[in-house]
Amino acid sequence: GEGVRLQKVLAQAGVASRRAAEELIDQGRVEVDGRIVREQGVRIDPGTAVVRVDGTRVLVQADLVHIALNKPRGWQSTMSDDLGRPCIGDIVAERVQAGQRLFHVGRLDADTEGLILLTNDGDLAHRLMHPSFEVSKTYMATVNGVMERGVGRQLKAGVELDDGPAKVDSFTLLDAGEGKTLVKVVLHEGRKHIVRRLFDAVGHPVIRLVRTDIGIVALGDQRPGTLRVLGRGEVSSLY
Ligand code: URA
Repeated sequence: GEGVRLQKVLAQAGVASRRAAEELIDQGRVEVDGRIVREQGVRIDPGTAVVRVDGTRVLVQADLVHIALNKPRGWQSTMSDDLGRPCIGDIVAERVQAGQRLFHVGRLDADTEGLILLTNDGDLAHRLMHPSFEVSKTYMATVNGVMERGVGRQLKAGVELDDGPAKVDSFTLLDAGEGKTLVKVVLHEGRKHIVRRLFDAVGHPVIRLVRTDIGIVALGDQRPGTLRVLGRGEVSSLY
């Protein structure tokens, strides 16, 4: 049929998950073009429909936007910052149409650089951040100390952290010398400070950390502080 299912429109607008949106519809709290819709599966035109939840207008997005951003070191991974510190919202602000709401998919530590995905599809952002969504993330880590080969095996086998076991799925030692080692690691999880904690656990604290890839989306030579719109293939890989 034509149009997009109402619960999907609500989820994409960031109102609620699809399931919770279905409940809102059941509860008679959702209005389309002035009429309460209680039926599931109704399709609407996101370009023209006026949707309200509990009487409040919902910003319906006709066009989905997906962006790769290279977060500079020292910047916050948030769309705004109460303390006035530089944040990724500043990078996006000039490029985004008024009224458009972008969600960032997860966070990087302020000290970490690299790839963050942004989208106005709240439903996608929500799903990508869920632990069950096991997309691979690649990091380049410069760590303190010259690393011995056995450390890679240890990280692949798994180490015990405060909040349970953790491991890397792939480990490549790229360079070592002058008291430092450069390694590439691939992980399928996103617990807070996970890469720093893994390297702390094996006695090699991280000096510099850059996230270079999320699934098939790669930073490539994209400069810090810039964004680019994802290509079709990249976008479909996320769904
Ligand atoms: N792991 C970390 O330790 N920091 C990040 O920002 C991302 C992953």
